[in-house]
Amino acid sequence: EKNVTENFITHIIDEDLTQKKHDHIVTRFPPEPNGYLHIGHAKSICLNFGVAADYQGTCHLRFDDTNPEKESKEYAESIQRDIKWLGFDWKNKKFHASDYFGQLYAYAEQLIEKGLAYVDDQTPEEIRENRGDFNRPGIESPYRNRTVEENLAQFRAMKAGEFSDGSKVLRAKIDMQSGNINMRDPVIYRIKRMHHINTGDEWCIYPMYDFTHCISDAIEGITHSLCTLEFEDHRPLYDWVIDHIDIACHPQQIEFSRLNVSYTITSKRRLSQLVEQGVVDGWNDPRMSTISGLRRRGYPPAAIREFVKTVGVSKKESVISMTVLEDVIRNNLNKTAPRVMGVLNPLKVVIENYPEDQVEMLVGSNHPQDESYGSREIPFSRVIYVEQDDYKENANRKFFRLTEGREVRLRHAYYITCHEAIKDEAGNVIELRCSYDPESRGGTADGRKVKGTIHWISAAHAEPIEVRLYDRLFNHPNPASLDNFMDAVNPDSLKILPNALLEPGIAAQEADVVYQFERNAYFKRDKTHETSKPVFNQVVTMRDSWAK
Ligand code: ATP
Ligand code: MG
Ligand code: MG
Repeated sequence: EKNVTENFITHIIDEDLTQKKHDHIVTRFPPEPNGYLHIGHAKSICLNFGVAADYQGTCHLRFDDTNPEKESKEYAESIQRDIKWLGFDWKNKKFHASDYFGQLYAYAEQLIEKGLAYVDDQTPEEIRENRGDFNRPGIESPYRNRTVEENLAQFRAMKAGEFSDGSKVLRAKIDMQSGNINMRDPVIYRIKRMHHINTGDEWCIYPMYDFTHCISDAIEGITHSLCTLEFEDHRPLYDWVIDHIDIACHPQQIEFSRLNVSYTITSKRRLSQLVEQGVVDGWNDPRMSTISGLRRRGYPPAAIREFVKTVGVSKKESVISMTVLEDVIRNNLNKTAPRVMGVLNPLKVVIENYPEDQVEMLVGSNHPQDESYGSREIPFSRVIYVEQDDYKENANRKFFRLTEGREVRLRHAYYITCHEAIKDEAGNVIELRCSYDPESRGGTADGRKVKGTIHWISAAHAEPIEVRLYDRLFNHPNPASLDNFMDAVNPDSLKILPNALLEPGIAAQEADVVYQFERNAYFKRDKTHETSKPVFNQVVTMRDSWAK
């Protein structure tokens, strides 16, 4: 099965292969190491690595590291971890734009020698002002007609550190009247004294994105350079640079629409604000739309890939409902998650006719629809815990759970009948007194109709855990559209249940397994979170609680 469903990009590739324009497809994923990857990046990763795999091609990982002030090793490492976790591999084809600083510099001199680049001494404000806008043509810089010799000398002096930061730039000499602002003599080099994560203090001038990206693609022999729609207006510049330097390869830039998901933020800059302002517990907080947050939350990588595939690739801008993402996760986990019993809000039940000190082992299937998951033994004894919600005083006839005089089935165990509820001084029910039918072992007995089945845990064997329930981090469908997206932060996005209980033998397991706590939700142990008890994060609810 293909990684990427047929779309306009695969059609272009098919055509290029038929026309023998290429015989080997090369793509790249080009993150800037200035933050953690988010669900939007997953689309680009699945597309670039997926297309390469589908065509027996190659996909490079290239760090687009030309803005040293915002970049760090921590970010670069997290990006690699996230790509691998999503199931993709760059197979030693890991590059950095900074690997090409020497070549990029040489290409800049080549443009100068061809009379196609000049050093501009205007201030950044003057440059911005004189670029004009859609209604206003650009005004040529007074430095635009410097001679080749003067430009070369100036540019070399820039490189040698003879000028202060921001005092001069190198610009491509294209067309100040162009209808496309990107073509109005774009800046291609700036002076910036900053320590770089790869090149240290070797450079005090750094190339700009539009100059760097296309040349890096060409150096690496990229055949199809896939990027998001906001770069459509940059394509003429991409092509101009490649056409005017001496380089054999001319990659084809193709734009597709970004992935946006409702109720989330997909912008590293905004995500970093959430981290810096302490709204969340780091980049990998389980409520974050980062890949590392989704991992900690318990989203399976296969389900994220499936979601991206479901969304598809096109040029149409859209916002995908968070419900779509959650449905894909839920359907995946319904098939893959082993079932266990966990009680979120425990209520003690004493089974009065069950012998004291007796423990028996019952058998529970690990997955009702998939026998290959096998079964496990579950201890049963006189005192058990059930969910507080599963008891109701004076319940009507439609309540098929515990109330005085009503019989219910304990999952994998026996029928019990409730006789009495014991209350504390404040009137809260703190214990139920019940009896069981010894003939109903395994959950069936002589044709009696028992509608309700509830989960439970033997008190003596229950493992205390902390459960963390999550709601959406924002209570606005498009937080990025607001003046201040922080106003839309949902104050109730985390609910901690400190007294939950889990059947034995589950919490201590090494492997990262997502479990279905039957009748409750899907949960995964959070090993990064240290408390006195194991912490389980709710991955997703059993049903869509938002589809009302
Ligand atoms: P951000 O605004 O979050 O910083 P970015 O586009 O600047 O995003 P990059 O590190 O440059 O982040 O992204 C690497 C690649 O991922 C780029 O090719 C970019 O187009 C792509 N990408 C980023 N966000 C999305 C998205 N929401 N949907 C699809 N692709 C995306
Ligand atoms: Mg970018
Ligand atoms: Mg960015």
